[in-house]
This record gives sequence, C-alpha cells and structure tokens, in this order.
Amino acid sequence: MNEIINNRKKKVYEIISIVKLTSLLFCGIIIFNRFSRVVSYGYIDANDYLSMIPLGMSILVLALIYLVWVFFWTRKVKFSGIKWLQVIEDFIFILLFTVLIILSRAYISQYKLLFLFIIITATIQSKMRYGIIVAVISSSIVLTIDLIYAKGKIINNCFENDLILCGIFILTAWLLGYYVKIENEYIDKLSNLANIDGLTEVYNHRFFQDALKSILEKAKESKSSVSLILLDIDYFKHYNDLNGHQKGDDVLRQIGYILNNNVRKGDIVARYGGEEFVIILSNTDEKTSITVAERIRAEVENWEFEGEKNQPNGKITISVGVSTFPSKAKNEVELINSADDALYRAKFFNKNRVETYHSVLEELKKDIEEEHIDLITSIKTLISIINNKDRYTYGHIERVVMFAKLLANKLELTDEEKKTLKYGAYLHDIGKISIAEEILNKKMTLTNEEWEILKHHPANGANLINSVESLKEVIPLILYHHERYDGKGYPSQLKKEEIPYLSRVLTVVDSFDAMTSNRPYGHRKNYEEALLEIRRCSGTQFDPDIAEKFIEVVEENKDKFDNLVSFNEK
Ligand code: GH3
Ligand code: MG
Ligand code: MG
Repeated sequence: MNEIINNRKKKVYEIISIVKLTSLLFCGIIIFNRFSRVVSYGYIDANDYLSMIPLGMSILVLALIYLVWVFFWTRKVKFSGIKWLQVIEDFIFILLFTVLIILSRAYISQYKLLFLFIIITATIQSKMRYGIIVAVISSSIVLTIDLIYAKGKIINNCFENDLILCGIFILTAWLLGYYVKIENEYIDKLSNLANIDGLTEVYNHRFFQDALKSILEKAKESKSSVSLILLDIDYFKHYNDLNGHQKGDDVLRQIGYILNNNVRKGDIVARYGGEEFVIILSNTDEKTSITVAERIRAEVENWEFEGEKNQPNGKITISVGVSTFPSKAKNEVELINSADDALYRAKFFNKNRVETYHSVLEELKKDIEEEHIDLITSIKTLISIINNKDRYTYGHIERVVMFAKLLANKLELTDEEKKTLKYGAYLHDIGKISIAEEILNKKMTLTNEEWEILKHHPANGANLINSVESLKEVIPLILYHHERYDGKGYPSQLKKEEIPYLSRVLTVVDSFDAMTSNRPYGHRKNYEEALLEIRRCSGTQFDPDIAEKFIEVVEENKDKFDNLVSFNEK
C-alpha cells in the first residue's frame, strides 16, 4: 500500500512539473512577443533582433533544463526541506508572473490568468489551505496592479473585471482543495484497511516489515537507536483448548488494546503472527525499552481476562524478548532474530518475563585476534545455516550454553575455563554444516553408513576453527564432546582422564539437552527421566563426578527446568 501511495505521489509530481514547465513556456512566448513589439516600434535594430533569437532561445532552453533537473532531483532525493523548497519555487513563479503582467501593459494585460497555473499546482501539492493562501496573494497582486497602473475612470472597470477573476482564483483553490481532501481521506481509509489487523486493530505483519525497514533507514541516518519488543502469549493453546477460540480472540483483542495504550504515539504496535505481537520503539535505547517491556508484561499479568483461572500460572501472561539496533543488531533481520532469541530465553526461564538479547558471538569477538574477526561472521552464517538444516539444533545451542553456565559455577571453574566452556558449548555442533539435511532430520534409525557420516562432525568442527590461535583451547571440546568415559565414544575412543576435563563437562550438558528435546529419532524425556538416565550412565558414558554435580544443578534449579518439557513440545 505504501508503494502504491508513493507511486501516486510521484505521478502527481510529474503532472505538476509538466504544468509548471508549460507555464514557463508561456512566459517565454510572452517575453518574445513583448520583445518583438519593442522591435517593431523601432527601438532596436532588426538585425540585432534576429541574432538575438537563437541566443534568447538557448537561454530559455537552458533555464528550462535547469528547472527540470532541480525539480526531479529534489523529488528523487528525499530532501527534508522540500516544503520550503516548494514555497520558494511558488514565490519565484508568482514574482515572474507579476513582472510579466506588468510588462504586458499591467492592468489590461490578458496574462493575469497565468496565476491559475500556480494556484492549481499549489493546491494539489499542498492541500486547500496553502492553495487559498496562494490564491489570495495572487488576487491581491492583480488588484494592486490595477490600483497602481489604472488611472481615472477605467479603474472601476478594471476592478470589476478583476474581482470576478479573483473570485475564480479563490473558488478554484477551494474546490480543488476540497477534492484533494476527500481523496486523501479516502486513501487513508483504504490504507488503514490494508495495514491494520482486523481482529486486534494493531498494524499487521506486512505493515510492520515496511515500517521497520524505513525506521531503521532513518535511524542509520540520524545515528539513533531503535528497540524491538517481541512478545508471545504463554500457554495460549491451552487457553484456546479450554475456553474456545472465540474467547481466545477476545484475549488477543484485549492484548492489542493494552499494547496500544502503553506506547508513545509514534511507536508501532503490530501483530507478528498468531498470538505474537511486536513493538517498534524509535529513538529508544535498550534500558528504556526494557522498562517499557516490563510495564507491558506487568499490565498483562494484572489484567483480568475471562477464564484465565485455569491457566498454568492462574493468569494470562506473556513472555517478552527485547533487542536494540545498532548495539545488538545491525539490520532488520538481525533485530528480529535477536529479539526472537531473547523471547526464546524468556520462555525457557519460566515464561512471564522480559529477556534481552546476549550474543555469545559478540563476546567471542572481544577475545579473538583482529585478523580472525571475519571468522565470527562466518561462524554466525554457519550457525544460522545449521539451524535451518537441523530443526533440532534450533535452541539447542542456546540451551547448552545456559546449562554449561550453571554447571560451570557449580564446578567452581576458573574464569578462563568458564569462557572456554562457553565457547565450546556454542561451537560444538558447528561441524554439522557438512552433514546432509536428510541425515540430520531423519525420523527413522540411522543406517550404519549414515552414523559414520554423522560421527565426522566433531572432527569437521575442529578443522573449521583450527587456524584461530585464540580458539585453540576450544578445539578439544568440539573434537571430544562425543567421547565416552568408558572409551566407547567417538572419534578417538579416549577413556576417563584421557578425555580433557572440559570436554567431559560438555558431554553431560549436551546429552542432557539431547534427551530432553524433540529429536528426530528417539523418545524425548522429561527432566526427571533425563536425570535418571544420567545417573544410569554415570561411570560409563559420563564422568561420575561431573554427572553428580550436574544432577545437583538441575535439582537446585528445578523451577527453571520445570517448563523445559512443555516448551520443547512446540
Ligand atoms: P508458549 O507458552 O510456549 O507460547 O505456549 P503456547 O501454547 O502459547 O504455544 P504457541 O505459542 O505455539 O501457541 C500458539 C497457539 O496460539 C496456537 C493457537 O491455538 C493460538 N492462536 C494462534 N492464532 C490465533 C488466533 O488468531 N486466534 C486464537 N483464538 N488463537 C490463536
Ligand atoms: Mg507462539
Ligand atoms: Mg504462546
């Protein structure tokens, strides 16, 4: 719709510029006409006159080309002072017409009608008020010329005629202005229909995408921040199942209302998808956006929705993810993805909360040597490709990083070790990039051959980052995260302490997440079942000490893990 409106504006500008040019041509003709009269009265030699025609013509043509160029250039480049430019342009035209009228015998000039050109273009371009102002100015000029130049009796005659002309000027501006107004209202109504979500009365997804693009463009120019708040209703499927979709729709409507009431006038609230909403906050840094997000979260929690008593929290709540341009994301895709990641974490940590985006890769960037910075971008791309290829990895990496952090604290690792573990957790599956999608997502048990291929991923991953000096410590984690304590793992069948300590740590958290998530193969366990499994495999698959500590971590953070199972059902 925006494109259609812009297109229309462009066409109107084109027509107006043609009208203005035509009026300029008329001016040229009047000048020549006037000139030839002067010549025929004998003030200038006829030969001089002939030689001046090409000169005059080329000056006129050059002036026209210049005008056309200025005209189109200012339309193309979104010149912010365009309104002033138009006022100046109109002023010049009025001045030019006035001079011409005076030159062509002032009060009896037949060129007074020229003002109609500028009145019509001004009204179409800048609506009724501006058009009427131009019409009044033009009328005053016409009448003033009469007053100055018409002497004696004829003044009454001239005034009579010109008053009618002035009436026509003002009537034209009013009529045309009114028509433009009706048309603009009609366009507004249509664009509202195309941009507003029918159910919730906030903007729709398409409008959001367009708006985000243009808001980010402006923010880039003005070097300001833009924050994005993405929110998703908790357990909404459950609510729909118990109360029916009609009631579900009522909840969506009320949330739309709450959101609209909690943002500033220029902020954009949109429905992102089914029960997901998004808010664009221009000129807003991360800290402020967190305050806004928290205010909205609290308002939804305190709002009384019909039938919410049976929700798992006893209330309708929302989880919220926040990200900010340019500090956390460089473009609109990154901004949406990072807010989505933050939302994902909010869901993980018990829902009904606000989370911001943290990127392990950004931290990694600080620790890596200058010459390898490019690698971060490649890793980012690799991870997003893997996420697309392997439905299971989505979120897996984030969760493994979270579990690893909790376990690292429990094991009292040094800061250096914590960092290595974090990077290892982040990069451990990177070798999956070279494994076919069919194998990664296969629902049935893998054939021996396919297993062999899958088993290459630790070595592939280690090779990928081999050249980076600062990631040397991370390599064993990637290479050995599938080794087993009893020596039956892969790729090197290392045993017990032969397996580097941090690799053994990573194996536990990685396996725990594999057990509790939706994998293409195998049965997904709830966390109690998963803990039993870890205990069962302690000493065979896992280092018994680390396994024991991890079980303690999960039990201590039981509340955080409570939602894990229902969330992974998605
Ligand atoms: P979670 O807390 O993890 O977000 O759980 P959830 O049940 O909300 O899961 P999810 O976000 O996947 O739920 C999507 C549900 O939203 C599915 C559908 O029943 C509901 N939904 C989506 N669009 C509409 C809609 O237009 N009207 C109604 N009434 N329900 C919708
Ligand atoms: Mg959802
Ligand atoms: Mg939901």
